[in-house]
Amino acid sequence: MDMKQGADVMTVVLFSWGDRIEGGAVEALTLAAEVAAALGVEVRWVVTPALEQEAASAAALHGVQQLDVIAAAPGSTDERVSVIAGYCKAQLPRLMLFNQTVEGRVVAARVAGRLGLPVLANVVSLAPDSDALRAEASAYGGDTRAEYLLKAPRNVVSVVTTAVVARKVDPAVQVETRRVEVEPVGGGAAFEVISAPQVQGQRLEDAEIIVSGGRGLGKRENFEFVKEMADALGGMWGGSRAIVDDGWIDSSRQVGLTGKITRPGLYIALGISGASQHMAGCSAAKTIIAINTDPDASIFRYARYGVVGDCVELLPELIRAAKA
Ligand SMILES: Cc1cc2nc3c(=O)[nH]c(=O)nc-3n(C[C@H](O)[C@H](O)[C@H](O)COP(=O)(O)OP(=O)(O)OC[C@H]3O[C@@H](n4cnc5c(N)ncnc54)[C@H](O)[C@@H]3O)c2cc1C
Repeated sequence: MDMKQGADVMTVVLFSWGDRIEGGAVEALTLAAEVAAALGVEVRWVVTPALEQEAASAAALHGVQQLDVIAAAPGSTDERVSVIAGYCKAQLPRLMLFNQTVEGRVVAARVAGRLGLPVLANVVSLAPDSDALRAEASAYGGDTRAEYLLKAPRNVVSVVTTAVVARKVDPAVQVETRRVEVEPVGGGAAFEVISAPQVQGQRLEDAEIIVSGGRGLGKRENFEFVKEMADALGGMWGGSRAIVDDGWIDSSRQVGLTGKITRPGLYIALGISGASQHMAGCSAAKTIIAINTDPDASIFRYARYGVVGDCVELLPELIRAAKA
């Protein structure tokens, strides 16, 4: 197959890996396709072999015609960085996009470092602006939005996809898949995993229903109500960083900018203030229901249904109703 090299074919590329397509990937794909169309360049989705079939179907539905399968199946973060940097070095994409998962943010920054390219994280929108790219990104821990003009010829960007709506094309496009041999750049282990997060079964990012608790629950024991409510609704449970920091729950359950980016159908926030950093991980939920004692709590700006009240008092009754 003809392997055009980067210098004469400018591309926008999105990278995905793992054993299934992460939540937010198709939103990032939509953004990549839109930016590429506006720049008049090709868009490619670069995936590892385990994702090939799933990615081919998703690419067809979202109008992305090129799927590059990188022959190596990198296992560790260090290997991923080397292989993706190798791909970029050979293919010279104009824009390298990452879906900002917890690992995506790390990989993006390290790929940029290895290639000597600029990197911007927490991006919520991106569009061409004459010869540059104009990006909007959350800043100061999500408290504000900053605008950046990316003037370098090549840029690495990681996208918080809660602000992006995935768009399907009709009819689906024909996807061309090619296998790309990659010469890794750099190497050697830089990180050692001392303790991996304890995640079993379904991932929070993929949950359709999430019941989340915050410091408003008052004490660790009350978090059991959150778990029970999640079970009763057939959903998963999560929480704010405040209670992760207080040791009530494991960090793998943290929702937010520095936790999991979720997009469930239903998000129930119990005793959560609605700080911007928390909302970065759940504002894409179709419906948010909040219970908070403070009628002025920020969470009510996002909630479709809100109850001003004590969640600890209300939860036993709600659990009974959910089980009925
Ligand atoms: C760089 C950075 C990154 C961050 N990343 C994250 C992140 O990923 N995720 C995250 O969650 N946070 C994150 N934070 C922290 C964030 O700013 C907030 O501090 C945190 O979300 C607050 O958690 P909370 O709402 O549970 O607690 P609080 O802010 O203490 O709010 C508790 C809420 O419960 C209400 N309440 C009190 N009693 C009751 C009751 N009985 N019933 C009902 N409601 C009650 C209160 O009115 C209040 O609104 C980050 C901060 C920074 C600076």
